[in-house]
Amino acid sequence: MLKIEDKEFNPNYLLWLEAIKQPVTVQACQMFTYFTLDTDEGCAFGHPGDFLIKGELGELNICGQEIYRQTYTPPEGMFWCEACDKLRAIDDFNFEDGVELCDACIAELREE
Ligand SMILES: [Zn+2]
Repeated sequence: MLKIEDKEFNPNYLLWLEAIKQPVTVQACQMFTYFTLDTDEGCAFGHPGDFLIKGELGELNICGQEIYRQTYTPPEGMFWCEACDKLRAIDDFNFEDGVELCDACIAELREE
């Protein structure tokens, strides 16, 4: 609820302007094992496939895979394999049946 000078105020009566958030570059590392991270808010748990994010000031945070995919653009030269959910080098890129797959996943598909 918005209050202005202690009175409830309907935000629809404000003049809203479009504002585009500037991109922020962070460092990200996809983890392939369970891990923990001590933070100010206690111990956080990471799962295989989650990302460890290093902010501009060196602070570390855990970012789940889904959130990572919705929030970040993969680094140049990398793509997201839709079968194994790992960031892969563009050299391993395959496009099969409308799905982006890495070489390892393609090889597994062909074995079956
Ligand atoms: Zn894959």
